[in-house]
Parts: sequence; C-alpha cells; structure tokens
Amino acid sequence: MTEHITLLKPDDWHVHLRDGEALKAVVPYTAAQFGRAIVMPNLRPPITTTEQALAYKSRILAAVPAGMQFEPLMTLYLTDNTPPDEIARAKAAGIVALKLYPAGATTNSDAGVTDIRKTYKTLEAMQRHGLLLLIHGEVTDSDIDLFDREAVFIERTMAPLLKDFPALKIVFEHITTKEAAQFVATAHGNIAATVTAHHLLYNRNAIFTGGAGSGLRPHYYCLPVLKREIHRQALMDAVASGSPRFFLGTDSAPHASQMKEASVCGAGCFTAMSAMELYAEAFDGAGALQHLEAFASKNGPAFYGLPAHTQTVQLKREAFALPEAVPFGAADLKPLRGGETLAWRLHS
Ligand SMILES: [Zn+2]
Repeated sequence: MTEHITLLKPDDWHVHLRDGEALKAVVPYTAAQFGRAIVMPNLRPPITTTEQALAYKSRILAAVPAGMQFEPLMTLYLTDNTPPDEIARAKAAGIVALKLYPAGATTNSDAGVTDIRKTYKTLEAMQRHGLLLLIHGEVTDSDIDLFDREAVFIERTMAPLLKDFPALKIVFEHITTKEAAQFVATAHGNIAATVTAHHLLYNRNAIFTGGAGSGLRPHYYCLPVLKREIHRQALMDAVASGSPRFFLGTDSAPHASQMKEASVCGAGCFTAMSAMELYAEAFDGAGALQHLEAFASKNGPAFYGLPAHTQTVQLKREAFALPEAVPFGAADLKPLRGGETLAWRLHS
C-alpha cells in the first residue's frame, strides 16, 4: 500500500473565491494547497471588464496570508455584449480566460450568454489573442431534464463551437457525464476538461442518503448535479487514463451554511480546505495514484501554456480531522465531509 507520494505543487483550475469577508475567509485555504488558481468571475455584479478583474485580483492578493506564495489567474465573465476590443486589453493585463455561463445555469449566472452566436466576434478576438474559453456546459431549457443538460449541450453547442473555432483553447469545466468524458478524450481540436473531487468520489445517491439513510444532504448539492454511478466511473476512468486533456478544478464554491441548509439551497460544494486530500482518496480508491501528479500539477499548466511549478508537496496516508464548520464572515461555512476524518493529508 502506498503510504506517501511526492508531487509537483498543484494548481486549482476552477475555484470560486467570492468577495468581501467571504473572500478573506476562503483565500487562505486555496493558497495553502495550490500555487495558482483560475478564479471564477461570477460575483454580483459579475467581473466583465479588465479593470474590474484587476481590482478583484488585488483584493484576492490582499487576503493571501503573509509568507504564502499564491497567484490568482483572472478571468472575465462573457456576456452577450462583451466588446471584442476588451480582449486585447484583457490580454495585455495578464487575464488568461473568459468564462461562458449559459444564462441561468448556476449561481449568479443571470448575466450569462443567451445565444452563443452573439459572442462570435468576441470569440474570434480570443482565438486571435490566445485567451482561453472556459465553459459551464449545460443547456438551461426547462424542458430538458436536469440530469441530461450536459449531454445535450455537447451536441447543440460544444461540438459546433470546436468546428467554428479550431484554434481557440476550450476548457469544458467540471464535467460530470460519460458523454462529456468521451467527447473530451476523442474530439479534434483544442479541448480539455476539469474534473472536481466530488464528482470523482460520489454519485447522485450521496445527495439523498443522509442520517438514517433517507435524509437530504444539501452540502452534496452542486451544479452540474452529481450523476449516476456509471458517469462517476467514466470520469474516474478518464482521469486514470493518463490523458493530458483532464486536469484538476475543484469548483470549490462556498455558501454560508444557512444558505445551504435552507428551503432553497444554493448550489456548490466547499472543498478548498481538503481538496488534495479528497483527490488523493479518489485516485487511491481507483488504484490510480500514479496519475495524480499529471492531473493535479502538469496537465493544467501545459494546456494553459504556463510552466509547471518546481517546488514539490507530499501527500501522506495520515488521519486528517476536518472541522465541521469554519468562520465565513459573520456566518459559518461547512466543508464537504466536515466533521469526518479523512485518510490522506497534504504537507506543503
Ligand atoms: Zn464553478
């Protein structure tokens, strides 16, 4: 049995850091685990301009504890009206990507894209300047079953997009289905995917099996929602295949516990406190620990055109008691698996 592994310092290619007091509460957890992170722009109001992104970046850096090295990689929120000339400004300011949310797909996405065709001039500018397009890949039509929205998005939007923009680098974010895993593994074009720890560890039963076996567990509710076991298995097979097209993106998405334990529960799992521990558990469970370093530390930088880190970290098989809740401004925040003891621990 492997007792410890050493890997190059990992990065998180998809995280929600929020703003204000919430930002100050969560940034230290991500900075403790990762060297860099792609920061999602879905604040309220969303980060749609270079100027807003740079101001947000300085608030993030101000929340990094002294002595920690952490680089936030900034993104803009793509709307129907993002002007193509914003892309050159973004590139010059070091912004690396734009995030496409179909309007209404998830938390704070009402400003999202209503029709992909409306963004084509901006996508052309991104292709020209080498900015990446990060996609929340779900249709939002109310007549499409919630569990089928990712698969339908592939046919309707993702496949045509790859044909129309062969040189645009596209990341299919937080994939959850065997259809998405197969599409990314085999598609022609510049496509890769992030995979969360919770979609590698859990199927949809996890949402419905709390307490005595029949309680609803809101902390396991996220979007795209957890799927059937066959899909979890396909995601695990994809990341364990060693394909460079799959890399780490936690989609850690903090909500105050009263927002999760409410009659209308916010979508998102907070995993930043124990991200590498959860990924280690998933890869270990599949006998695939030898592929964790490429997934966590090499494939992401390679796709983004950035160097990998040179420092290393260690994961040890060592009991790690995760607190049930931590402060979140005036509220509290419950990590996924809070109150439980995890089997792995990150030493950085
Ligand atoms: Zn997200």
